[in-house]
Amino acid sequence: MSGWRRLTEALDAVADRGEAIRLWWRDDDAGRDCPALDRLLDLAELCGAPIALAVVSAWLDEDAQGRIAASAQATVLQHGFAHADHAPPGAKKIELGGRDGAVILAELARGRDILRDAFGATFLAVLVPPWNRLDAALIDQLAACGFVGLSTFGRRAAADEALGLVRVNAHLDPVDWHGSRLFVGEVAALTRLCEVLDPEEPIGILSHHLAMDEAGWRFFEDLLGLLRSHPGAQLCAAPALFARPR
Ligand SMILES: [Zn+2]
Repeated sequence: MSGWRRLTEALDAVADRGEAIRLWWRDDDAGRDCPALDRLLDLAELCGAPIALAVVSAWLDEDAQGRIAASAQATVLQHGFAHADHAPPGAKKIELGGRDGAVILAELARGRDILRDAFGATFLAVLVPPWNRLDAALIDQLAACGFVGLSTFGRRAAADEALGLVRVNAHLDPVDWHGSRLFVGEVAALTRLCEVLDPEEPIGILSHHLAMDEAGWRFFEDLLGLLRSHPGAQLCAAPALFARPR
């Protein structure tokens, strides 16, 4: 069975129960004006798909700011501060760790101010840690630091909301980061997506516009088209997902 057929059948089954899986689209590493950013935002508009752009505060240039602000589909989230690696030698890359927590939080607050000034109401104070990684000790300080949400990768833990943060993660990252650094292919991507579909938790589809090859662009266009039109899927905008439950 083709990957598309498998996904369609999985969504059909959800729709038959009168339900819809909530999904959202996150794109990481935005901030610099480039043709790929243009293409990404054009795609969001073409597909009528809300996109949450994780912007690196220290990368933000004026042209990118103008392009993002002009998009009717974009919400801006905060992707760390400078996407700089502070891991000790041999350890996994991390920006929000490997050094004093107070320094990290001060940097994050500065980055948040940059994005809030640049984007106003289009900015949502949700932290997307670079490499989806942060010191666990920082998490319970984020709400006091002004963040309303946190987005990393994989199934979320039930306890997160007790920390005053809404946690909405990404679950599908269809790039072969450890090999070709290109799109993994439709079969692998759709198999993975079918595995992670979950009626209990919004499912995040993650793109990296700076690392997108032609097959990757085509996949996102086809996927967003399907999700947009299928009654078993509900493409959600970030502000709705990160709103605190009342
Ligand atoms: Zn990143």
